[in-house]
Parts: sequence; structure tokens; C-alpha cells
Amino acid sequence: MILVSACLLGHKIKYDGGSNPNELLLKYNERGRFIAICPECFGQMPVPRPPAEIVKRTNKKIFAGKAIVKNKEGQEVTRFFYNGADKVLKIANAYNVKYAILKENSPSCGVHDIYDGSFTGKKVKGNGICAAILAAHGIILYSEKDLSVVRLETLLTEDEKNGD
Ligand code: SF4
Repeated sequence: MILVSACLLGHKIKYDGGSNPNELLLKYNERGRFIAICPECFGQMPVPRPPAEIVKRTNKKIFAGKAIVKNKEGQEVTRFFYNGADKVLKIANAYNVKYAILKENSPSCGVHDIYDGSFTGKKVKGNGICAAILAAHGIILYSEKDLSVVRLETLLTEDEKNGD
């Protein structure tokens, strides 16, 4: 099975109550190999909620549980992010997941880039908290920006062969 950020599959669970439907993922969802996950919902954050960014980070610190996440109102929400990521990791382990396709730029799901913590739209290289934890446990990450028909066919064919 392959983990996929639920907002990419059209679930309306973004901070603003919207979603980020991805045409290719919605099409390939028919194969029944995707597990929709939302670390922020699993961490029991409401929808809608104020946007949040990682304000203190390095990937090593994220994995060690030392990153700090604040929302735009200045409230620290770090624990929700780690709680949600832990639940996603448990699901990944239960299903022997090898791949995850996650929403770029999110403080939970970002794969290549995340916002820099200034709430000004600036981005920095790095993973969101859930993405960093999954990667540290050997799960290979892609964002929606890495997708193509060829890549999805390859991932799904391999995943179907494994059959977990
Ligand atoms: Fe989408 Fe991930 Fe944000 Fe949930 S935490 S809304 S899955 S980007």
C-alpha cells in the first residue's frame, strides 16, 4: 500500500477547509492501493484551523522531536504535529508501506520544500514533520510535483506485486 496525503485525494481537510485534488492520483486511486492520511487531522487539529509553519528546524531536529511549529496566531502547536506523524508511522508499519506521496510545502507533508516559518510565503529546502519521520524510517517520499504516469505505474505495479 502507498500512503497519500488525503488533501491530494480531494479530502477537504486543509487548514482552510479546502483540498488539493490531484488529477493523476484521483485517477489511480481506482487501483485501491492508496491509504489516505492527514497527519494534522490524525493529530486532532480541527478543520478549519489557522495555518502553521515550522519555526525552528533542521531535519535532524525534526526526527529527534525538537522542531517547533507555531500557527499564524503565535500559538505553539508542535505536539499535534508529532502526535499525527506518530499515527501515520504506525499505519505505515502496519501495512509494510514502502512509498508515500505527500503534499509539497506543508509543515507536515512537505517533501522537498517547506515554508520558512516567517508566514511571508518564503520557502526553504526541507521536509515537513511527518515526511521527515517517514523518511527516517526508510519510506521513500514523492511529492505531487514528482508524479508522472510512468512513475505511478511503476510504483503501483511494484506495490501490487508485494501485495501487502
Ligand atoms: Fe494535506 Fe498533509 Fe496538510 Fe493534511 S497535513 S491537509 S494531508 S498537506
